[in-house]
Amino acid sequence: MSSVIVTRFAPSPTGLLHLGHAYSALFAFEAASRNGGRFVLRIEDIDFTRCRREFEVEILDDLAWLGIEWEPSVRRQSDHLHEYAAAAEQLRVRGLLYPCFCTRKDIQREIEAAGAAPHGPEGPLYPGLCRSLSADERHGRIANGESFAMRLDLNRALAEVDGDLEWNDLQRGPQKAQPEILGDVVLVRKDIGCSYHLAVVMDDGLQGITRITRGEDLFEATHVQRLLQSLLSLPTPEYHHHPLICDPEGKRLAKRDDAETLRSLRSRGISGRELRQRLEFG
Ligand code: GLU
Repeated sequence: MSSVIVTRFAPSPTGLLHLGHAYSALFAFEAASRNGGRFVLRIEDIDFTRCRREFEVEILDDLAWLGIEWEPSVRRQSDHLHEYAAAAEQLRVRGLLYPCFCTRKDIQREIEAAGAAPHGPEGPLYPGLCRSLSADERHGRIANGESFAMRLDLNRALAEVDGDLEWNDLQRGPQKAQPEILGDVVLVRKDIGCSYHLAVVMDDGLQGITRITRGEDLFEATHVQRLLQSLLSLPTPEYHHHPLICDPEGKRLAKRDDAETLRSLRSRGISGRELRQRLEFG
């Protein structure tokens, strides 16, 4: 078996790239090139409510300016929706997904009524309203045209797993997955018919990614993604959740901050080489 390392950068074209993205892209690219490996690019554009083709064009242009070279076959997720749907169907048939008709308001109301709810890294966990609906009730509501998402039935999913779910993280060392911190996550969104967790796990498997490098803001997502790898019989790559870069005041340049875009750096005459040096990628 080949041991060539394969890394990826997987931006969502919801806006222009900024310094945090540049760091993440260079991190993945360097990890591959330093080790004689392969680097692939994936456009994560399943969320048609937020993604725009113009941003994709700008992203490719910014990456080229940074001196990054990717393999010619760029995977665009919106071309593969049928594959994610097939994976979700496979999980549904195994009884691992259930339809959830809740609106955000329903969920909020239920949490308030309960007085308290277990919290995960992304907020309160889904309180399970739709988990226990009878088959008749589900069919009736679907037949009535109610819209629904599909959620992972975590307890059933965990019952299918033999032994511990682990991964190796080059930043934090060996990890044991605890998917319960995220609860019954949505794997098929009402609006887009897919979800980040499902698409990313499928694609990392299908593209043969051996090392996932990404910001530590996605560390928690790995708990459920590791479970999905096991349920879908996909290999487990190693991970490197790198620290997020900070501005000179030590404030994290999170993805949605008003961080400076590469476009504006470029318009000020800064070269890709200068930026690479500034981000300590020589
Ligand atoms: N598309 C995701 C983002 O731009 C990254 C997904 C990942 O690296 O797993 O935040």
